[in-house]
Amino acid sequence: MAKSMQFKTEVSKLLDIVIHSLYSNKDIFLRELISNSSDAIDKLRYESLTDSGKCENDTDFKIKIIVDKDKKTLTISDNGIGMTYDEVINTLGTIAASGTKEFMKMIEDKNKADTAQMIGQFGVGFYSAFMVSGKVEVLTRKALEKEAVRWSSKADGKFTIDKAEKECRGTDVLLFLKDEDLKYLEEWTLKELVTKYSDYIEHKIVMDVERKKMDAEGKMTDEVEIVEEVLNSQKAIWLKDKNSITDEEYNDFYKHITHDYSTPISKIHYKAEGTYEFSVLLYIPEKSPMDIIYKEYKSGPMLYVKRVQIMENCEDLIPPYLRFVKGVVESDDLPLNISREILQNNKQIEVIRKNITKRVLDDLKSIKESEYETKYLKFYKEFSRVLKEGLHYDTERREQITDLLLFASTNMESGIYTTVQDYVMRMKADQEDIYYIVAKSYNEAISSPYLEGFRDKDIEVLIMTDDIDDIVISSTREYKGKTFKSVVKGDIQLDDNKEDKEEKKKEFSALTDFIKEELKDNIADVRLSSRLKDSAVCLVTGEQAMDPYLEQMMKAMGEKIPVSKRVMEINPDHDLFISMKTIFEKDKTSEILKEYTLLLYDQALILEGDKPINPSNFTKYMSKLMAGNLK
Ligand code: ADP
Repeated sequence: MAKSMQFKTEVSKLLDIVIHSLYSNKDIFLRELISNSSDAIDKLRYESLTDSGKCENDTDFKIKIIVDKDKKTLTISDNGIGMTYDEVINTLGTIAASGTKEFMKMIEDKNKADTAQMIGQFGVGFYSAFMVSGKVEVLTRKALEKEAVRWSSKADGKFTIDKAEKECRGTDVLLFLKDEDLKYLEEWTLKELVTKYSDYIEHKIVMDVERKKMDAEGKMTDEVEIVEEVLNSQKAIWLKDKNSITDEEYNDFYKHITHDYSTPISKIHYKAEGTYEFSVLLYIPEKSPMDIIYKEYKSGPMLYVKRVQIMENCEDLIPPYLRFVKGVVESDDLPLNISREILQNNKQIEVIRKNITKRVLDDLKSIKESEYETKYLKFYKEFSRVLKEGLHYDTERREQITDLLLFASTNMESGIYTTVQDYVMRMKADQEDIYYIVAKSYNEAISSPYLEGFRDKDIEVLIMTDDIDDIVISSTREYKGKTFKSVVKGDIQLDDNKEDKEEKKKEFSALTDFIKEELKDNIADVRLSSRLKDSAVCLVTGEQAMDPYLEQMMKAMGEKIPVSKRVMEINPDHDLFISMKTIFEKDKTSEILKEYTLLLYDQALILEGDKPINPSNFTKYMSKLMAGNLK
């Protein structure tokens, strides 16, 4: 008995959009359905590697387009894996859950033309059939199952499902075309669409066509016969000669494998020859997929062995920090039944991975050099965060990855970036370290008191505004023999006159000892600063400690951070210390002095972006000070 069921709400919503809003390119429905059929055949072929019975003695894989002009129907039929009753309900009654919400959100944000481009990206490909059909029927039988299933819907909020009979395994998607879409019954239209969108599909796409019969001498007669014609060239694009592929074909293939309808910024296509032979076609996308930061993100190109897809995402072929790269790798030397465990320790996979990594990094370098404005900045905005993970994990290629980084700098205006390489070239002759500051924004960094001394000496400082910069740069440590040094950490010596500094140290030693004693619970030491010029005081962390900006962020996220005592640096040239020194010399037990010391510490905390230790004391002393000034 046919059972009527409701679509999940999101499907109804989606169908509504598909039917009413996506007029711009209806043609894509055919590509989507062919693509599903091709995937179903791939799945069957893959499963039959371990279970040869699955193919039921039929390995003539094909996708057939069947036209019935009288009934106004178009059928896309395949002999792929097919679906069971439950699978039909689960896949055609709901939307592959992962992308639904994002897709809906995207639709709300974007204009309609873009939406049409994006259909398919979130597993909504099948529903595009409703763009051209009033009713869609699916008849499917799973490989090795006896019973078939018939699913049918008019996109009116419900579908029916029933058990059925079907002679051969696979799936028929039957479209009852709308009157305005009858052009999809025309032979030439269908041929054109297949060549345009699905030519590289590895399996035969066939259609019955009428042909005039030939006689024995090869002459055309008036008699008509029906022949099954193959419409696509079937040639795997990655095995083709580079020169024979147009940009459009490359881009179409990218869309086919990624369901991403933007144009990739770069493609890397080559055949490696030598001990191991393999073909590679990779793409660097223009936009980052939303889930790239999640664990569930499927990373790695497709792996083919002898034209059979072995894995949809082979993560062993690419290091995680290049996981944005998409594409195909084919190697005929690997065994067809290779398992995940074998892959992980396979020498050849290792060689391919190294080779791909090098190619991708080289490609990025050349984009940076020759297409900086048009492409590299786009790439960087989308993927630099992922790329930076490589600094931490791929010590061998650290320098190469560092060369790809871009940073703001005190020498540049806001929004202009420099590379570490260029920074090093501009370094002063006697400058040994690469100085950097981590901050929330360019403007915050520029006005930081930690930079006063550097500005005074005209020393350039790199500005890092990505929250993972401190971690990755700390683990990178050096570049071409120069050490990365944070301007807020450790002891920084910018003074030209060492003797003068020693003198001052002596002069202020009693006062610094006093401050140290007063704040001994909070700070590790007090010393004279060479990084301050206008400000009175700042706090400095140890060389190995976490950046204070990062520390606050982690605290805000609820992480437990071990408390590290800071060093307080004071500016001996500031009027404040000159007066404090005078008071101190007059009366070592002065209350005012104690209040000033606490205020000093609070000021330093505020400069770091933190709160005063005791806000009520802070305001009390501050008010007192202000009132005193007014007298
Ligand atoms: P996607 O293909 O992106 O997953 P679709 O909406 O196009 O999303 O298809 C949903 C699911 O329905 C597929 O993942 C697949 O499991 C199943 N499906 C669709 N068409 C076929 C087919 N011809 N043969 C077998 N399964 C199919």
